[in-house]
Amino acid sequence: MQTLTLNDGHRIPVIGFGTYRGIGEEGTKAVAKAVEIGYRLIDTAAVYQNEKEVGEGIRQSGIDRNEIFLTSKLARNKLGYSSAKEELEKSLDRLKVDYVDLYLIHWPANARNFSHWKEVNNETWRALEECQKEGKIKSIGVSNFWPEHLNPLLDSCEIIPSVNQIEFHPGYRQTEVVQFCTEKNILIEGWSPLAKGQALKNGTIRRMAEKYKKTEAQICLRWATEQKVIPIPKSVHPKRIMENFQIFDFKLSKEDIHTINEMPQMGFSGELPNDW
Ligand code: NDP
Repeated sequence: MQTLTLNDGHRIPVIGFGTYRGIGEEGTKAVAKAVEIGYRLIDTAAVYQNEKEVGEGIRQSGIDRNEIFLTSKLARNKLGYSSAKEELEKSLDRLKVDYVDLYLIHWPANARNFSHWKEVNNETWRALEECQKEGKIKSIGVSNFWPEHLNPLLDSCEIIPSVNQIEFHPGYRQTEVVQFCTEKNILIEGWSPLAKGQALKNGTIRRMAEKYKKTEAQICLRWATEQKVIPIPKSVHPKRIMENFQIFDFKLSKEDIHTINEMPQMGFSGELPNDW
């Protein structure tokens, strides 16, 4: 598995496996299958209510837990110093692990929900920094943070976030956030890299799939990895889990990457960090 190096020195696989809506027996099997196929980055979150299944899937795969880069996230209704520490313990219990490789603040505190939103983010972050020092988290990061949320955090933090996980697919590229994070050496993970399936119906993507003799999903995922963005596609179907992993035997031309980078907005989830 190819990896990238985070700003804290830890290595992260260049593609991951998403688990949102992968619940129950189906969710467990999907995770076990993904690990069997070769995925080494598994992404879950407290709000997905499937941490038990994800932990079980990893154990069922037979691959050593230390070989897996396991991510979970702190729910947005649990922000705050004490709450962050308590919620991490609950996630570790549900996953049945001693540590997570990456723990993210799922959504930033915003002005709509908090009068002192910057302080809430800073205090939550301080808790994550302490948990990292205690060895309960290897790398700490954020999700759905824009520069306006990152700037105050960067002013007050001791440890710079290693990752920002944001919506990222051919129809929603968030170029300003990506550029800002790249300058700060914060790696981008792309959620909904297939735009929840919407990108697979797009004419431009379809034409490229024909040209490269690959599937539409493979075009979207390869495009992300070629820009050093880590896509975390989700599927519960073994054939698709395999398909989404087979993206390392071809390269998109510079022109085709440029074409995707010029595509109009398509498949945007509608979820915004200041609107929750
Ligand atoms: P994706 O863009 O990964 O798309 C998933 C959908 O596409 C599912 O309906 C899946 O169906 C289908 N699909 C997957 N592969 C294929 C394929 N090869 N061909 C056709 N259809 C396919 O969407 P997600 O929203 O799930 O995002 C991925 C992951 O990102 C999540 O699972 C989660 O881990 C993370 N995430 C993080 C967020 C955050 O705020 N940080 C927000 C949203 C997601 P099926 O399962 O039936 O195959």
